[in-house]
This record gives sequence, structure tokens and C-alpha cells, in this order.
Amino acid sequence: MLAKRMQNLGTETAFEVLARAKALEAQGRDIVHLEIGEPDFETPHNIIEKAVSALRSGYTHYGPSAGLPEVRQTFAGHIARGRGIDVGPDNVVICPGAKPIIYFPLTALVDPGDEVIYPNPGFPIYESVIKFLDGIPVALPLSEEKDFSFDIEDLRGLISDRTKLLIINSPQNPTGGVLSSADLDAIAELAVKHDFWVLSDEIYSKIIYEGEFDSITTRPGMLERTILLEGHSKTYAMTGWRLGYGVMPVELAQAVAKLQTNCTSCTAAFTQIAGAEALTGPQDEALAMVAEFKVRRDLLVDGLNAIDGISCKRPRGAFYVFPNITGLNLTSKEVETRLLDEFGVAALAGTSFGRYGEGYLRFSYANSQNNIRKALERFEEFTTAVRAGN
Ligand code: PLP
Repeated sequence: MLAKRMQNLGTETAFEVLARAKALEAQGRDIVHLEIGEPDFETPHNIIEKAVSALRSGYTHYGPSAGLPEVRQTFAGHIARGRGIDVGPDNVVICPGAKPIIYFPLTALVDPGDEVIYPNPGFPIYESVIKFLDGIPVALPLSEEKDFSFDIEDLRGLISDRTKLLIINSPQNPTGGVLSSADLDAIAELAVKHDFWVLSDEIYSKIIYEGEFDSITTRPGMLERTILLEGHSKTYAMTGWRLGYGVMPVELAQAVAKLQTNCTSCTAAFTQIAGAEALTGPQDEALAMVAEFKVRRDLLVDGLNAIDGISCKRPRGAFYVFPNITGLNLTSKEVETRLLDEFGVAALAGTSFGRYGEGYLRFSYANSQNNIRKALERFEEFTTAVRAGN
């Protein structure tokens, strides 16, 4: 019999839809994959070469739980320069992927009954971990009318004496929305006034198409109450390497490193060395990926808006679109299932990201232009079938 706490643990349905899509492929079906959030590019070659040479030079052993000192230094320098903030290596903890920078800091900060405000629709692991820790998840609705940002008055209304932490994510998964600088100012003011922590998930900070990336960490009083989540999975197409990091106040960094000692011991040493190369080496391959994502975004958004009954905002960041499908008069889950089973397009129901995702689908455009065209044709056939009552 499993422990009771397992009943509170959620999951990421992207992995389930991927498994169903793969099972259909095994039966000979042709499936277009727009469900999973991972770049379809190879990791830039200089990063791979660095990992190979690190392996040959003996980076094959245990290291300190918080990360190799020289790599923490490099990551801290990258964040300090890029965001213009005063952080050093003691603020950095390196983890196998960015996901532990949700799990560990929340474990270190959230007591049972503490309230945690999180974006909805949002990355499903936030709500899952809050519940697992017996925290109270408080959903902050994102709205299409506000380009998938939220109303600051809504946030103000959700804050209580029990609010321990607020999670923000910009550019955002699943909507591609980007928080404005004015919103970040207002959020920071509320955090300082009501004395809560902010987990700022900035994993898509480099995948932004219009405007500059802005981080809440630059606002007065925020460094001492912010956990900045970053990682290599998306920017450098390194999902399978498992490399992420957090930047946070020293006391919390030490607690997170202690959790890591109890859990994973440390992040693979050669991966960390390759991760430092990613930040300090040539950026041309990473920049080329972003340029290609932008072309695909426009292809997909224009194609979706040309389909009767579908409307889609043009997101400013990440590699997802979140079209409104309410014109089809089906639930998001029904659309997800029928689109995959009958038309061979794997996408995710908006409700995979929380209840405020009803009426939307998430398409990831981390796939070729040809496959995006194919998916659009099939999606149009599907909508025609639905309108004909089939
Ligand atoms: N945060 C967001 C918003 C994400 O979309 C993801 C991955 O999908 C992560 C964190 C986790 O990244 P990683 O694969 O490095 O653990």
C-alpha cells in the first residue's frame, strides 16, 4: 500500500500523451508530435565536445551537492551580468534539470497549511508539488484578454496572512505569455509589502521574440525573497542532459543543497562542465534555434487563425501557442483525444495545465515547418468534421 501523501501528487500529462502517441506509431499510424515541450534540435556541438573532453579528463566522480565551485561561479556571473543583479556562487545551486528548483525550494519553505499562489493555466508540476507538501494551492487565473497575463487586482485579492510564496513564469508555459515590466513592478511591491517569497521560473528567458526579457529579481527588496529558476533544457536543447540551477539567498541555497545531498547527491560533473561551456562559448546555434522558432510561431499562429472557429494570440515567448477552441463546442480533453486518435496530431488539452485551461489547446512548435503544416491541415479537417456533426 502506498503512503497517503501519494494521493496528492499530480503529474505532467505531456508524458502520457507522448506514450499514447508512440503506441499509435507502433501500430503503424503517422503521428505529428506537437505535445512535448522540448526543442527538436541537437545540442550545440561545442557543448557536446566539452562534455566528451570533461569525461576524458576525469569529471566522472561525486562533487559537492550545490555544484562544482567553478561552475557555480560561472552560472552566478552569467546571471549577475545578464540580469544586472548582485549575486555570487554561494547563491547558486546546480541540479539535474530545473524541476528540482521547484521541488527543493518549496520543500524547504512551505509548511502544511501555507498558501502558495501559482499561475493557472501553468506548468502542472507547481500545483502538484504544492499539494504534495500539504500546502494550499491558490490558483491565479491567466486571461487571454490580457495576453495571458493576470490582473494585479486578482493577485491582490488572493493574498492572505498565510501566503508564503507566489510562483511566476515568464515567458510562460503553456501560453507563451510574457509579463510586462509594469506587472513585475506591481508584483514586487506586493511581495515586499506582504512579505512573501517569489519563485520566478525564467527557464524560457532566452526564447523571446519581441522586446527584452525582464526579471523580477532586479526590483528593490526582491533578491532576498526570490528563487530564480533557470536551466539549459530549452535554450541549449539539453533536455536529456538534466541540467538546471537556482539562484537564491544563501541560507536557502544551503537548505536546497542539503536536500540534494539527501536525494541525488549532486549533478553529474561532466554535465556541469558542459553547462558552463554553454554559457561562455559561442551562442550562434542557440540564437539560430530562436530565429527558427519565431518563423514556426508565425506559421502556426497564422495557420490557426485561418481556421473557422479557432482564434490564437501571437505569443511573445517560449515555443507554445494556446489557441482558443471554444468555437468547437467540445471540451479540451475531447479535442485532445479525437485529434490524436482520428487525425494523428498529438497536442495537449488546456486543462492539462489547470482548470482555467478549459477551452484551449497547447501546441508546441518545437517541430519542423513541414510537420507544422501537416498538423494544420489535419486540424482543419478535424474542425470541418466537427462542424459537420461528425
Ligand atoms: N519550468 C517550466 C515552465 C517548464 O516548462 C519546464 C519544462 O518543461 C521546467 C520548468 C523543467 O525543466 P527541466 O526539464 O530542465 O527540468
